[in-house]
Amino acid sequence: MCGIVGYIGGRSAWPIIVKGLQRLEYRGYDSAGIAVIDDGALRVNKCRGKVADLLNLVRSQPIGGTIGIGHTRWATHGEPNDVNAHPHVSMNGHFVVVHNGIIENYREIKARLAEKGYTFKSQTDTEVLANLIECLYIEQGLTAEQAIKAALRKVIGAYGLGIMCVDESGLLFGARKGSPLAVGVGEGEFFLASDATPIAEHTDKIIYLDDEQVVTLSRDGYYVSNLADDHLDPVISHIDFAVDNIDKGGYEHYMLKEIHEQPNSVADTMRGRVNPQTRTISLGGIADVLPRLVKARRIIIVACGTSYHAGLVGEYLFEQFARVNVEVEYASEFRYRDPIITPDDVIIAVSQSGETADTLAAIRMAKQKGALVLGICNVVGSSIARDTDAGIYTHAGPEIGVASTKAFTAQVTVLTMMAFLLGRKRGALSQERYEQLVESLLRVPDMIGRVLQDEAHIRDVSKAYQLAQNAIYLGRGYLYPVALEGALKLKEISYIHAEGYPAAEMKHGPIALIDNCMPVFVLAAHDMYYDKIVNNIQEVKARKGQVIAIVTRGDSEISKMADYVIEIPECDEALLPLVAVVPLQLISYDVAVMRGCNVDQPRNLAKSVTVE
Ligand code: GLU
Repeated sequence: MCGIVGYIGGRSAWPIIVKGLQRLEYRGYDSAGIAVIDDGALRVNKCRGKVADLLNLVRSQPIGGTIGIGHTRWATHGEPNDVNAHPHVSMNGHFVVVHNGIIENYREIKARLAEKGYTFKSQTDTEVLANLIECLYIEQGLTAEQAIKAALRKVIGAYGLGIMCVDESGLLFGARKGSPLAVGVGEGEFFLASDATPIAEHTDKIIYLDDEQVVTLSRDGYYVSNLADDHLDPVISHIDFAVDNIDKGGYEHYMLKEIHEQPNSVADTMRGRVNPQTRTISLGGIADVLPRLVKARRIIIVACGTSYHAGLVGEYLFEQFARVNVEVEYASEFRYRDPIITPDDVIIAVSQSGETADTLAAIRMAKQKGALVLGICNVVGSSIARDTDAGIYTHAGPEIGVASTKAFTAQVTVLTMMAFLLGRKRGALSQERYEQLVESLLRVPDMIGRVLQDEAHIRDVSKAYQLAQNAIYLGRGYLYPVALEGALKLKEISYIHAEGYPAAEMKHGPIALIDNCMPVFVLAAHDMYYDKIVNNIQEVKARKGQVIAIVTRGDSEISKMADYVIEIPECDEALLPLVAVVPLQLISYDVAVMRGCNVDQPRNLAKSVTVE
């Protein structure tokens, strides 16, 4: 949540910062701002709204300067308005701060600063931090870097920070705890950013800061240290994606582009892991811990949102193929429940960004209790990737659309590979069945491609429901988590109230909602539940509900009952989630566009949920 960009070098800072903020806008978009130091003078521009509004503001009052910081906000403290927008300047104008996260003890600090005569313009926790740094700087006669560290030692909470001090205008400071922050290392210029996307077009050298690290950037170099003032030697990594991956590539929205990327992204997730010649799976990222995973007494999958739905698919897969006990938990509940975890448990954390605050906290707790902790995430070098014992990257490429699509199919692909491999290693799957499954998995990218060819028909179906106020999604077995995910997608981007249910649960309550205005999306592919789901469709039709059924190609029975059918290719039922979710993603997309919603930046949401 929230995007930070900083620049110090020889070029004009504001265009680099504004472009970087546009790249990060998916992380937060209720207000935006920029601060540069131009000839020793601090210039701040900020406003409510999008980065495009900020761009208009900056263009109308051009600013010079080769050092600056910028921010796109996802408000936690104080409504999104011009005053609460970042950057925040300290009361006497010495410091300017952009912040991602929450300073939990800001009230106490604010009260103490108020006693010393400090006043505050905004309702944010961030302005309190700016003033705390300034207060320590003045009272204790510290350097800017020392004052920042002294302040951060007093702070409880999470922060990614970009900071400038007007009196030391050749230095740009960054710090992180809980919220991500990276440094781009260029030639005579350096960048600060919440993730690699704004940095990639300038340099491929990147340093991912760790918790409680502070970086001081000058035009000559970087200096990384911790809050105890020890000098650290950071690892420089290489950004592993091309800049075109973060553009819209000719599509109207990132979300549509990312839906269409799925044949390739799923193939990328399998690349180097699923061998078509030997029909085997090898997962390098967990090779060292595989013996412990094979012996696991229980697997607990922790995740939030769409990743939680991928985790539910994982539960069906692991139980069916590896015959191991699995629980899937919302990270936010799990972490506070004092759950019973023993060293023979394996925790799998699933998160697109690898920064999800609740998931991160859950795995830290599980690690303390001695469990083996694995991560499945998309962002290389992210906190979850670093805090887990081992893990598997999804390699789906940057996902910019706030509503997750290709990250879901990539996560499910990883869980599928793990379940098949584990099944074989635990002796629960015969070699023959294992090879058959591997072959079917290799066909999935092609099957997704065939669903996408049906885009025009899916758009026609969507048209019929663009004015709906509610919707129900039903599925059974492997398709139950897909029903949940379909409903979530529709809620997120079209703001239509939608509920996902296991189809058989309908008669225990939700059936009361069904009338001739209620669209019911039924996942009814050929699987072991087929006859039962046909009965569920009849129950809906008997109450005059509208049925949109996702069926296996060539199904003639359901097309007689349903109002609309969307066909998907025949596939092994364990692989259905990867294929059946695609039409639901497209329906949500189409309906949202038809309703005039902002698909890539849905209201109130932001990607990479770094607050709990
Ligand atoms: N807590 C800060 C605020 O509300 C930062 C929010 C963010 O991460 O964008 O302004």
